[in-house]
Amino acid sequence: MVRIMFSLDTITSLAKRRGFVFQSSEIYGGLNGCWDYGPLGVELLANIKNAWWKEMTFRDNIEGLDAAILMHPRTWDASGHTSQFSDPMIDNKTSKSRYRADNLIEDFIEKMRKKNKTELANEIETALNQAKEPNDFYDIIIKYQIPDPVSGTTDWTPVRNFNLMFKTFIGPVEDDSAIVYLRPETAQGIFVNFKNVLDTARQKIPFGIAQIGKAFRNEINTKNFLFRTREFEQMEMQFFVKPGSEKEWFDYWKEQRWNWYNRLGMKQEKLRWKVHEKLAHYANYAVDIEFEFPFGFGEIEGIHSRTDFDLRNHQEFSGKKMEYVDSVNNERYIPYVIETSGGVSRSFMAFLCNAYDEEEVASDNGKSEKRTVLRFANVLAPIKAAILPLVNKDGMPEIAETIYRDLQKSFKVQYDTSGAIGRRYRRQDEIGTPFCITIDGQTLEDNTVTVRERDSMQQIRINADNLKNYLLEKFI
Ligand code: ATP
Repeated sequence: MVRIMFSLDTITSLAKRRGFVFQSSEIYGGLNGCWDYGPLGVELLANIKNAWWKEMTFRDNIEGLDAAILMHPRTWDASGHTSQFSDPMIDNKTSKSRYRADNLIEDFIEKMRKKNKTELANEIETALNQAKEPNDFYDIIIKYQIPDPVSGTTDWTPVRNFNLMFKTFIGPVEDDSAIVYLRPETAQGIFVNFKNVLDTARQKIPFGIAQIGKAFRNEINTKNFLFRTREFEQMEMQFFVKPGSEKEWFDYWKEQRWNWYNRLGMKQEKLRWKVHEKLAHYANYAVDIEFEFPFGFGEIEGIHSRTDFDLRNHQEFSGKKMEYVDSVNNERYIPYVIETSGGVSRSFMAFLCNAYDEEEVASDNGKSEKRTVLRFANVLAPIKAAILPLVNKDGMPEIAETIYRDLQKSFKVQYDTSGAIGRRYRRQDEIGTPFCITIDGQTLEDNTVTVRERDSMQQIRINADNLKNYLLEKFI
């Protein structure tokens, strides 16, 4: 298999040119870390969310939820976010650049590996895995003389912790008692509703609650397009289990989530596991699924065994019981939790990079030309089919229009009459439309149309009456 190399700029400019993603508030110069999804972007985003929702909630033991973004501020005391949800921040005095200290060290380790200084890289990595306090990160940066990538100097300020939660005020009075936060994760909305869902949905343990929604983090550095943004969407599921059975469920959900990405066309060699060496204070097992972006591997989803940390703390802080009563076995316990926590926007970018391909194909004039194609899985493709009438006479546009209107009742289609057919195919290839339908002279004779498949570019003729069913079967 030929692996084509492309940069993140290629993806960013295609995304902008074809209306997938725009810079937020672009006419005012943009807002750092925020992006807007255009006409094709919203379709892809919705298709990813639908595929996830179907996968997670079309089961006997998972219920859905849509909790508010603003939550009672005590939520974040209980979850540990007020005191712990911070990143170590460092500034370079010469360039005035600001970094997340752990990322600065990680990038340096990567650089050392590329220079084959494996021993040094391993040594720094071990130190990084043990670092907890701001001073630990600072000591590493100073000990290994890690330079600022911009100025090249080691002229660093001390490292200090920076809380990533966005603060705002609820109600008209802007004082400390009115402070609320934009949620930094959707998970806590699920935990505080554990009892509500349990009681109303008549579930028994083990069962889960799934939610898709916006989350906000005032990240120190935003970079790599949609990878690290300040406003993003998450798709999270918390699965409540009996203490002691968490390893079994952790393994189960690891497999389920890996298979989901695979079924949606993620190339096997572009995915890998990252086992957490350093566990968060609440976790007893944790892994990430990482995708190989043009800038390297990065997390797209975390699968964590969170023990009873969240429910226990909410019980303590709220004074409300979070216990599960197992009346069959006459037991009471606070359930343990396995979480699958994926980023919608990050997987959007991963699916976009995974789909991107370029190849040489024969053009209309017999020469070869470059074809850019997004090889999305059919369910993810923003536009499912394009109707392209070949001739503008003899009733053919009318037939094409009828087909278009009919297909439009079932899925997203485009109608395109402008330019040579080769150009129209290229336009659709570039946005990942899996099927192009042409109407020609033969259609008038036998009511057949051609269906061209995006990846193979093979064409078949099928009866126009069977077209919709033929296509619908491909989108399941
Ligand atoms: P990172 O280490 O990259 O900051 P994290 O480990 O803090 O990520 P989680 O808290 O586990 O991430 O969040 C779950 C998922 O939410 C991530 O796998 C990612 O897909 C997504 N996510 C987290 N932070 C961001 C962000 N700033 N921008 C876009 N997506 C994000």
